[in-house]
Amino acid sequence: MTHSNITRSKNSQQHTRTNKQKNRYGTHCSLQPPHLVLALMVAMTQAYKLKNFITAASFARRLLEINERFASSKSSKSMSSAAKKAEKVLKLSERQGRNSVKIEYDEQDSFMLCCETMTPIYKGNKKTRCPYCFAHYLPKHSGEVCKICGVAQIGLETLGLVSFSSSRR
Ligand SMILES: [Zn+2]
Repeated sequence: MTHSNITRSKNSQQHTRTNKQKNRYGTHCSLQPPHLVLALMVAMTQAYKLKNFITAASFARRLLEINERFASSKSSKSMSSAAKKAEKVLKLSERQGRNSVKIEYDEQDSFMLCCETMTPIYKGNKKTRCPYCFAHYLPKHSGEVCKICGVAQIGLETLGLVSFSSSRR
Protein backbone atom coordinates (compact mmCIF):
# COMPACT_ATOMS: atom_id res chain seq x y z
CA MET A 1 0.00 0.00 0.00
CA THR A 2 1.37 3.36 -0.92
CA HIS A 3 1.47 6.48 1.12
CA SER A 4 -1.17 8.16 -1.04
CA ASN A 5 -3.55 5.26 -0.61
CA ILE A 6 -3.39 5.58 3.12
CA THR A 7 -3.94 9.31 2.96
CA ARG A 8 -6.91 8.86 0.68
CA SER A 9 -8.50 6.29 2.96
CA LYS A 10 -8.04 8.74 5.80
CA ASN A 11 -9.96 11.40 3.90
CA SER A 12 -12.84 9.12 3.13
CA GLN A 13 -12.91 7.66 6.60
CA GLN A 14 -16.61 8.26 7.23
CA HIS A 15 -17.57 6.04 4.35
CA THR A 16 -14.79 3.54 4.52
CA ARG A 17 -15.89 0.16 3.47
CA THR A 18 -12.37 -0.47 2.34
CA ASN A 19 -11.17 -3.90 1.59
CA LYS A 20 -10.06 -5.39 4.89
CA GLN A 21 -7.38 -7.42 3.21
CA LYS A 22 -5.87 -4.24 1.86
CA ASN A 23 -5.94 -2.73 5.32
CA ARG A 24 -4.10 -5.68 6.71
CA TYR A 25 -1.42 -5.45 4.08
CA GLY A 26 -1.14 -1.81 4.93
CA THR A 27 -0.18 -2.60 8.50
CA HIS A 28 2.79 -4.61 7.30
CA CYS A 29 4.43 -1.69 5.57
CA SER A 30 6.63 0.72 7.41
CA LEU A 31 4.36 3.71 7.51
CA GLN A 32 4.70 6.92 9.40
CA PRO A 33 3.24 6.50 12.90
CA PRO A 34 0.00 8.49 12.36
CA HIS A 35 -0.72 6.56 9.18
CA LEU A 36 0.23 3.28 10.76
CA VAL A 37 -2.03 4.04 13.71
CA LEU A 38 -4.90 4.76 11.35
CA ALA A 39 -4.33 1.58 9.38
CA LEU A 40 -4.09 -0.46 12.57
CA MET A 41 -7.23 1.16 13.96
CA VAL A 42 -9.23 0.28 10.86
CA ALA A 43 -7.86 -3.27 10.76
CA MET A 44 -8.42 -3.77 14.49
CA THR A 45 -11.99 -2.49 14.35
CA GLN A 46 -12.85 -4.68 11.40
CA ALA A 47 -11.28 -7.78 12.92
CA TYR A 48 -13.22 -7.12 16.11
CA LYS A 49 -16.48 -6.64 14.24
CA LEU A 50 -15.91 -9.95 12.49
CA LYS A 51 -15.34 -11.50 15.94
CA ASN A 52 -11.79 -12.40 14.95
CA PHE A 53 -10.64 -11.61 18.45
CA ILE A 54 -7.13 -13.04 18.20
CA THR A 55 -6.43 -10.89 15.17
CA ALA A 56 -8.04 -7.87 16.78
CA ALA A 57 -5.91 -8.33 19.90
CA SER A 58 -2.69 -8.49 17.91
CA PHE A 59 -3.54 -5.23 16.16
CA ALA A 60 -4.41 -3.70 19.50
CA ARG A 61 -1.07 -4.75 20.97
CA ARG A 62 0.77 -3.16 18.07
CA LEU A 63 -1.18 0.04 18.57
CA LEU A 64 -0.22 0.11 22.23
CA GLU A 65 3.42 -0.58 21.39
CA ILE A 66 3.49 2.33 18.98
CA ASN A 67 1.77 4.50 21.54
CA GLU A 68 4.43 3.69 24.11
CA ARG A 69 7.27 4.25 21.69
CA PHE A 70 6.00 7.64 20.66
CA ALA A 71 4.54 8.68 23.97
CA SER A 72 6.97 11.58 24.31
CA SER A 73 6.69 12.77 20.72
CA LYS A 74 4.40 15.43 19.25
CA SER A 75 1.96 12.97 17.77
CA SER A 76 1.25 11.36 21.13
CA LYS A 77 -1.85 13.51 21.61
CA SER A 78 -3.63 12.14 18.57
CA MET A 79 -2.59 8.66 19.56
CA SER A 80 -3.96 8.63 23.07
CA SER A 81 -7.55 8.15 21.92
CA ALA A 82 -6.43 5.32 19.65
CA ALA A 83 -4.54 3.78 22.54
CA LYS A 84 -7.60 3.97 24.75
CA LYS A 85 -9.66 2.17 22.16
CA ALA A 86 -6.90 -0.37 21.62
CA GLU A 87 -6.77 -1.10 25.34
CA LYS A 88 -10.49 -1.68 25.40
CA VAL A 89 -10.42 -3.95 22.34
CA LEU A 90 -7.47 -5.86 23.74
CA LYS A 91 -9.23 -6.47 27.03
CA LEU A 92 -12.47 -7.59 25.40
CA SER A 93 -10.67 -9.70 22.80
CA GLU A 94 -8.55 -11.48 25.37
CA ARG A 95 -11.70 -12.35 27.25
CA GLN A 96 -13.12 -13.94 24.07
CA GLY A 97 -9.77 -15.43 23.14
CA ARG A 98 -10.77 -16.87 19.83
CA ASN A 99 -11.16 -16.18 16.15
CA SER A 100 -14.53 -16.86 14.67
CA VAL A 101 -14.01 -17.91 11.11
CA LYS A 102 -16.17 -16.15 8.65
CA ILE A 103 -18.03 -18.72 6.63
CA GLU A 104 -19.98 -18.33 3.43
CA TYR A 105 -22.26 -21.28 3.92
CA ASP A 106 -24.79 -22.57 6.38
CA GLU A 107 -22.99 -25.32 8.24
CA GLN A 108 -26.26 -26.72 9.55
CA ASP A 109 -27.22 -27.70 6.06
CA SER A 110 -25.61 -30.35 3.94
CA PHE A 111 -24.60 -29.30 0.48
CA MET A 112 -22.67 -30.23 -2.61
CA LEU A 113 -20.16 -28.14 -4.44
CA CYS A 114 -20.70 -27.14 -8.02
CA CYS A 115 -17.56 -28.38 -9.73
CA GLU A 116 -17.53 -25.42 -12.11
CA THR A 117 -18.09 -22.48 -9.80
CA MET A 118 -17.16 -24.11 -6.47
CA THR A 119 -20.31 -22.68 -4.92
CA PRO A 120 -22.42 -24.74 -2.56
CA ILE A 121 -25.62 -26.30 -3.82
CA TYR A 122 -27.85 -26.85 -0.82
CA LYS A 123 -30.08 -29.78 -0.24
CA GLY A 124 -33.34 -29.33 -2.11
CA ASN A 125 -31.87 -26.90 -4.63
CA LYS A 126 -31.77 -27.82 -8.27
CA LYS A 127 -28.59 -29.44 -9.48
CA THR A 128 -27.39 -31.53 -12.34
CA ARG A 129 -24.55 -33.96 -12.59
CA CYS A 130 -22.12 -35.57 -14.91
CA PRO A 131 -23.49 -38.96 -15.98
CA TYR A 132 -19.99 -40.37 -16.13
CA CYS A 133 -18.22 -39.33 -12.92
CA PHE A 134 -21.23 -37.97 -10.93
CA ALA A 135 -19.64 -34.58 -10.35
CA HIS A 136 -22.37 -32.13 -9.38
CA TYR A 137 -23.06 -28.84 -11.08
CA LEU A 138 -25.49 -25.96 -10.93
CA PRO A 139 -28.25 -26.52 -13.52
CA LYS A 140 -26.96 -23.67 -15.69
CA HIS A 141 -23.94 -25.77 -16.61
CA SER A 142 -25.90 -28.62 -18.11
CA GLY A 143 -24.79 -29.32 -21.64
CA GLU A 144 -21.19 -28.28 -20.92
CA VAL A 145 -18.41 -30.83 -20.94
CA CYS A 146 -17.66 -32.04 -17.42
CA LYS A 147 -14.69 -30.24 -15.88
CA ILE A 148 -13.71 -33.20 -13.75
CA CYS A 149 -13.51 -36.07 -16.22
CA GLY A 150 -13.67 -34.17 -19.49
CA VAL A 151 -15.59 -37.07 -20.94
CA ALA A 152 -19.30 -36.56 -20.66
CA GLN A 153 -21.78 -33.77 -21.15
CA ILE A 154 -23.20 -32.48 -17.88
CA GLY A 155 -26.82 -33.43 -17.31
CA LEU A 156 -26.94 -35.71 -20.31
CA GLU A 157 -28.14 -39.17 -19.46
CA THR A 158 -27.73 -41.43 -22.44
CA LEU A 159 -28.64 -45.03 -22.38
CA GLY A 160 -25.04 -46.21 -22.66
CA LEU A 161 -23.76 -43.98 -19.92
CA VAL A 162 -26.63 -44.83 -17.61
CA SER A 163 -25.88 -48.51 -17.88
CA PHE A 164 -22.19 -47.78 -17.36
CA SER A 165 -22.85 -45.66 -14.30
CA SER A 166 -25.22 -48.16 -12.75
CA SER A 167 -22.43 -50.71 -12.79
CA ARG A 168 -20.28 -48.26 -10.81
CA ARG A 169 -22.88 -47.64 -8.15
ZN1 LIG B 1 -17.55 -36.02 -15.32
